[in-house]
Amino acid sequence: MMKLKKTILIVEDNDLNRAILSEILSEEYEVLEAENGRQALEILGEHKDRIALIFLDVMMPVMDGYTFLDRVKEDSDMSLIPVIVTTQNDSEADEVEALSYGATDFVPKPYRPRVILHRAASLIKLRETSATANLLRFDRLTGLYSKDFFYQKVQEQLLADPEGEYVIVCSNIENFKFFNDVFGIHEGDLLLREVASLARRMVGEDGFCVRYSADRFLFFQQKSKERENRLNFGHISGAELPSILKNVVMRWGIYEITDRSVPVEQMCDRAMLAADTIKGQYRQFFSVYNDSMRKELLRKQELSASMEKALNEGQFVVYYQPKYNLRSGVMAGAEALVRWNHPEWGCVSPGEFIPLFEKNGFISRLDRYIWEWVCACLKDWREKGYPRIPVSVNVSRADIYQLDLVDVFSKLTEEYGVDPACLHLEITESAYTENPGQIADTVKNLQSLGFIIEMDDFGSGFSSLNMFSRMRADILKLDMDFVRNETEKPAVQSILSDVIRMAHRMGLDVVAEGVEEKYQLDRLRDLECDFVQGYFFAKPMPVSEFETLLRSSKIPSPSPHTRLGGFALRKLVVVDEDAEYRKTVCGAFQKDYTVIESSSGAEALAQIRAAEEGEIAALILSATLPDHGAESLLESLRQNMAYWRIPVLCLIPPPDKNSKKELSWP
Ligand code: C2E
Ligand code: MG
Ligand code: MG
Repeated sequence: MMKLKKTILIVEDNDLNRAILSEILSEEYEVLEAENGRQALEILGEHKDRIALIFLDVMMPVMDGYTFLDRVKEDSDMSLIPVIVTTQNDSEADEVEALSYGATDFVPKPYRPRVILHRAASLIKLRETSATANLLRFDRLTGLYSKDFFYQKVQEQLLADPEGEYVIVCSNIENFKFFNDVFGIHEGDLLLREVASLARRMVGEDGFCVRYSADRFLFFQQKSKERENRLNFGHISGAELPSILKNVVMRWGIYEITDRSVPVEQMCDRAMLAADTIKGQYRQFFSVYNDSMRKELLRKQELSASMEKALNEGQFVVYYQPKYNLRSGVMAGAEALVRWNHPEWGCVSPGEFIPLFEKNGFISRLDRYIWEWVCACLKDWREKGYPRIPVSVNVSRADIYQLDLVDVFSKLTEEYGVDPACLHLEITESAYTENPGQIADTVKNLQSLGFIIEMDDFGSGFSSLNMFSRMRADILKLDMDFVRNETEKPAVQSILSDVIRMAHRMGLDVVAEGVEEKYQLDRLRDLECDFVQGYFFAKPMPVSEFETLLRSSKIPSPSPHTRLGGFALRKLVVVDEDAEYRKTVCGAFQKDYTVIESSSGAEALAQIRAAEEGEIAALILSATLPDHGAESLLESLRQNMAYWRIPVLCLIPPPDKNSKKELSWP
């Protein structure tokens, strides 16, 4: 069916201007033309039912625009037709005058086609809505205005009071869905009615409000009134509040109307945006819109719009950050961290796009891509004969709900021939606290397939020490801020040492993240933390760089006793002239250490020199070695600072008996 064109009347004495305007409008509208006010009134008399909008020039011979407006106002039908006054470019006086005569809006000359068409369309729409407004004016549940009617009222009020200071406020009920689920629809409706009556009280006589969507309300009110509300809100939320509202958290976003050229719908969007920025934040109830919020939103939209293409074009790449064994100093693994290399913006930080992708769901696709990349890498390294180390990947909270992790990971490792023990999965602590049941099951299944689970970001959320007994993980990864705060405190106050001890008691290894300073490292070593990761050692780096590092690292072959790869049993050096005694020590310690025997000081020194830094757990030294062997060995160790950390047990015979007694050094 052909759409009937709406009719617009142009009243303008200048032929050229009239022709231009007619040209712009005739594409979408039927156009009637008049040269002055009197002619326009004649046309109106005949066609007033079909004219949807009037464009009116003010300065005209015979009858000018103001007189025309006066006459139009007298007729009840004609007065409903919106009038746009065309003014000279920067004549504010004209505009104010025109509005006071009852014009609905104005556009400046010279005409800009898109502005003209947009204004025309929105005014016609507004008028049509108001025609059916009696039907649609009210929200059935709350008795508040409907959305369109609200927009119209705001528009009218702004035009009627050009000097007034107004705000648009958006209120949001935190977790309304949850409330509905728990208490039922009926209680939910009750809650909404209460909010509506609170809203009415808050806007007072001269403001108005609307229920925008399920639990969002919009208010239009004087700026001063809003201030007063904000001050009074403390009272309202106290005793005066109906009990149903007492445990409900509401957030308020405020848009101060400074630029009236912004369409009302957009003003409302901005108030809502302001409210959204404080969602879920502790004790933050009000937020006033500012332009950076819009910029941030635009940026997010930009990122969302480019993510798909970025994935297809390989803009997402993996960087690796090594983890080190704190005792031996040997590289023991790496974490895969995603980077977005955008052709125009450069490197976008995961801190910016990961939270966004977690919200819009894209994270699961990105994560699978990263996991596959890492598996391909592990396969490649194995084929190239590089030392075998485990790599950890991040598993987002959303992945746990959206993917069948057991299926995904077992297929991936099978396809690329990767040993599951080489693929560690970092799951953030907050996922554990959020949904302990589901996590526990998933983690259990993954563990039974041989995957190693690292609990990421420990200490950043609300987990407690007693969580250890319930959660399932193999490795505890301490959050960077937690490490930073705790390593600064004196030892006695530190819960860091308790956490590490508890973790060890539960059979978990501990990784500290974000180690930047030497003192942190020393502290962590004292507390017997197992592994470290941080800028002190290395920043995350591109694959090629990491491969160079990997090739040059002396990584011992993995031992069945360790979870993070690469660190074999530490060495215990026994130097004794008595072979029988050496054999006894060997038998006692070989389960936990690689015992290295030697019968002379010189031989032992050579062994110690050959070892990696930190690899020697201790030295058991007989004081009665021939040729002052013990003294010269101790002297050699003393001369090299690198050996000072090696504990030495020196066995000297008591003066009376032939048995040995301990003496420690240094
Ligand atoms: P995370 O998993 O806790 O990763 C550790 C972050 O700490 C990384 O930031 C790393 O570069 C940074 N870092 C490591 N050592 C230091 C240090 O000594 N000092 C400082 N200041 N920072 C250090 P990055 O790469 O920016 O990643 C941030 C977060 O984004 C990660 O935190 C992780 O939650 C997330 N993320 C990164 N890649 C992925 C991914 O592929 N998938 C998912 N789901 N999340 C990822
Ligand atoms: Mg991580
Ligand atoms: Mg972390």
